[in-house]
This record gives sequence, C-alpha cells and structure tokens, in this order.
Amino acid sequence: MNLKKKFLSAVTAAVVGFSLIFGAPVVQAASTAGVIGSIAGTLIEGAAMRKQVKQIIKQFNETPEGQAALYQHFREKQGVDTTPEYNERLDVIMANLTRGVAAVDPSIKDKPYRYFVAADDSLNAACAMGHVMLVNRGTFKALPNEDEIAAIVGHEMGHGQLNHGAKSLEKQVNQKITSGLLGAAIGGGAITSLVADVALNNMDAHKDKKFETQADLISIDYLVNTPYNIGATAAAMQRFTELSLGKERSRLEAIFKPSDHPGSDKRRDACAKKLFEYSGKHAEVKNGVVLVNKKNFMKPVASSTMSGAERSYFVLGNLARAFHDGQNKNQATVVNGTVMLGSQEIVTPLEGDEDAQILADRLNSLK
Ligand SMILES: [Zn+2]
Repeated sequence: MNLKKKFLSAVTAAVVGFSLIFGAPVVQAASTAGVIGSIAGTLIEGAAMRKQVKQIIKQFNETPEGQAALYQHFREKQGVDTTPEYNERLDVIMANLTRGVAAVDPSIKDKPYRYFVAADDSLNAACAMGHVMLVNRGTFKALPNEDEIAAIVGHEMGHGQLNHGAKSLEKQVNQKITSGLLGAAIGGGAITSLVADVALNNMDAHKDKKFETQADLISIDYLVNTPYNIGATAAAMQRFTELSLGKERSRLEAIFKPSDHPGSDKRRDACAKKLFEYSGKHAEVKNGVVLVNKKNFMKPVASSTMSGAERSYFVLGNLARAFHDGQNKNQATVVNGTVMLGSQEIVTPLEGDEDAQILADRLNSLK
C-alpha cells in the first residue's frame, strides 16, 4: 500500500466518529472505497486546506463541543485507568492546581480542564489543545510524593494555559500538507480526523525546548498558590536526571529524549534559579548543599524514596517560600522534630541528617 493510500484508509477509519461533530460531510460506516470516493470528491487546494486546519483546530481548542469530542477520542484511543487511588489523587491535585492557576491566570475559569488517568505504565503526562489532559498511571507508581506529581501536572497546565498544544499542532499538520503526504485531495471530515489523530500522537508538545522551559517555570507560579512545595518541579527534574543516568532510561525516553529535549539537569537549574529569585536571593542549592545567604545550611541525606540532592530542592522550596513571605523576620524553631522558620516548615531531619535544633540554630545565625 503506498503512503497516500495507507493514510487515506487510516483517515477513513477515523472519519466516521469525527465527521459528525462539526457539520462536516457525514460519513456512515460505508465501504472503504465508497468513503474514499466521497473524500476525493471534495478537492481542496493547499492554502484552503491550511485555512480549514486553522478552523478545525479552533473548534477543538475553543468550543466545549470540540473539547468534549477530543477528550472522548483520547479516552478511547489511550485507554482509561479507573483505579480509585490514582483517580482520587488526580482529582485532589487538579482541584488544588486549578486554584493555583486561577490565582495568576483567571482565564482558566472559562476553559476548565478535561482530564483522565491513562492506562499506560510509563511515567508521562500530556496536555493537548482544548485543555484535554492525561496523566499515565505509571506517573503515580513512579513518583513517591504528591508534590512531584503536582509539579508534572502543573507543567502540563502550563502547556495548556500557554496554548502550546494548538500552536505546535497547527505547525505539524501544515507540515504534512506541505510535504505532500495528503496530496490535495481530502475533504473536511478527513482533515478533522487528521487533526484529532495528530493531536493524539503528538499531544504532549514536549518537543519544543522553549515550550518545555516555559512550562516548567510557569508551573512554579501555579504551585505558589497551592499547598505543594514550590521546589517540587526542580526536585522532579533532579529525579529524572538521576533516572536518565541509570537503568531506567528507556522508561523515560518518551519525555526525556536527549535529542529533542533540554536536559533534565538544565531544566532543574532553571527552576532552581527561579526559586533563588523568589527567595529574594537568600536561598539556593549547589551540589546537593542548601545555602542560606551564600553560606552552608545543610546537605540533606537520602531518604528511602529520594536522593539527598532531590531532597535539597524540597528544602530550597520551603526556604524560598519562607523568605518570600517574610517569615525570616521570625525565629527558627523546632516543632515536633521539624525545623520551622516562623510558621513555614523548612525540613524534618532524617536519621543521618544533623539534629533539628542544630539546624534551627544555624538558620538563625544565617538568615
Ligand atoms: Zn512538556
């Protein structure tokens, strides 16, 4: 089968569901030959096709009907995981982050997210146009804390709020038109199907380096207005850096292909720099050591679920909040084994860490 025929039959398979949505020519489940005949009957020039692609993307991206259709399409194609534990956690994360986003970008109220847990064991999440989002169940299995899952979901919502899905999709579909893969001989319903399928296959937009860093950094703005640790994005990137150096590399390839992705370590450092700025340049992490006003505060040990370096970004997140909120005007104290700065928790020392009181005294001398 040549490419064009192969493509047309794929489109034919998908067209039945989608042609009904936007008043494109209705195609019943007829014979393949008959459907291709009706598609070929609508000849469209490249420029007109591009215009149509724009309109179709707009419908998927901006209308509740289009968003609902895309959501349904993704659920059917990706498979839905109904494990209550994962679904309940995602509901909580979405509720928290929706408030977090709304605090800095009220437009979310007019365009809420449709989301689901996808039946896929790899660690990944994605956001398509229309604020249609999925989080693989593998993400819940791989990440030991809700803060890092929230950081990843916040990253996806960054793509959503910045409209990355629609922007990169239009580029990709138009490239297919330009490359001649479509010829000039498919009609409206088929283009709708193509757009939906390209949206599915390329939905995470984790390919554009500029988009990635933008989504990482804006996720921190969202986390600020949630109960989550604002260092969680940097901590997740530290975890991915460690994983990509080890045996789990292949599991993460989908998100972290080195060829088309800024390295996790660079993304971590960009997040850490933002936290440093957020702290008023009082708190930072260098080589696993947490610094306050350029002096060593602590070097966290590894816990049962994360490295010392990963933990250091959680301490940084807490310190950044404390300094930003002016808690450094208060004393550092120890409450039930946790070092506090004013009312902000900073760190709960583990076995192998320095004693909580020693850390509190040091924080008082450095802040
Ligand atoms: Zn991304």
